[in-house]
Amino acid sequence: MWAAEEGADLEALLAHPPRSCSYVVTPASVGDGEAAVRASLAGLPVHLSPAAVWPDGVLERLAEHFLYAADLEVPIEPFATAAQTIARGRGPDLWVLLREELGRDFFVDVEGRVSLSERWARQGFFFGTVHDDLDTFEASDLWQRLAAWRPHVFAEVTACATCAHFPTCGGFWLADGSDESACRGWQAAFQLLADAWRTHRDDLTDAPS
Ligand code: SF4
Repeated sequence: MWAAEEGADLEALLAHPPRSCSYVVTPASVGDGEAAVRASLAGLPVHLSPAAVWPDGVLERLAEHFLYAADLEVPIEPFATAAQTIARGRGPDLWVLLREELGRDFFVDVEGRVSLSERWARQGFFFGTVHDDLDTFEASDLWQRLAAWRPHVFAEVTACATCAHFPTCGGFWLADGSDESACRGWQAAFQLLADAWRTHRDDLTDAPS
């Protein structure tokens, strides 16, 4: 997988695309989203990095592009899988899509400390080190906190408990203690996906049989 960091040469990538290549964009590299749009139209699957806050409007722009670009033939993730989850009423949420499944996904930093992912490690949360066993990981504050997240959402009636996008998201963006503004862009993008599905479903329902 090829990650497009700030200043990465999209032109060179499109001229000589490596095999099994995805265009990974971050809030720092996405700009107004135009490079990601061009990459996807050139046939490169686009992956949005697991970051909560993006420049204003860019998640909505990419969601609309994913939904309505007639000549788009590759996925823009996590929108492509999230759209399937919305349409089926079940499926993987962002914890699965963005590789933060407790007990399945691990991240090891350069000091050998083990966390769930880079975002948790960046905030100083670790299960232990590479020398610890699974029992030690499971006893860590981070493991306990992650395991208790879903029950906590509903027991404490947090913002996620009343969010229409919880089945798609799983409270992914607020689990690290971020305030409610952290996921507004994602909520707007998920709403576009949900509205598109509703319109599509109603069209099918209304179609003469
Ligand atoms: S409030 Fe935010 S983090 Fe919580 S479920 Fe909704 S979109 Fe996800």
